[in-house]
Amino acid sequence: MQGNTTPSPAVTPKQDWYAQGLRFTCTQCGNCCTGPEGYVWYTDEEELAMAERLKVSREQFRTRYAHQVEGHWSLMEKFSPDGSGYDCVFLQRTEEGRRICQIYDVRPTQCRTWPFWPENLKSPAAWRSAGRRCPGMIAGMEGVGKLYPVEQIRIIRDQTPLP
Ligand code: SF4
Repeated sequence: MQGNTTPSPAVTPKQDWYAQGLRFTCTQCGNCCTGPEGYVWYTDEEELAMAERLKVSREQFRTRYAHQVEGHWSLMEKFSPDGSGYDCVFLQRTEEGRRICQIYDVRPTQCRTWPFWPENLKSPAAWRSAGRRCPGMIAGMEGVGKLYPVEQIRIIRDQTPLP
């Protein structure tokens, strides 16, 4: 029988830098719902759930809470009262200084998958950079918080919607 007798080099699958998992526990500080201008993309199903939760029609929802960016719907933002940038349209600031999501139970997937977004997982530097404003990530880097195994991170990462 003829054949290639040269052994193929072993193919080693590229290992994610977070193969040992990452620690993160949200402190619900609200930082990720405020800051520089950004976009929160959502699906039709998520729009329906948010509209139902707010007891408005989809048209009313789009008029009051969303805007279109290059053909995709994103949640609106409003100026942060402290002048630090923008707040998500659904971020509520209480008199006691707390910051609460008004639609937390039906928030879009993009909000649920933070901080395991592809852009944050590109490298340890990207993770550290994203963590600058996220106490849950900072604590995780210091070894405190829930440990997410790599398999779970991949699942969450791949759920993150892209515009
Ligand atoms: S910035 Fe981090 S710790 Fe704060 S609410 Fe967002 S995810 Fe939670």
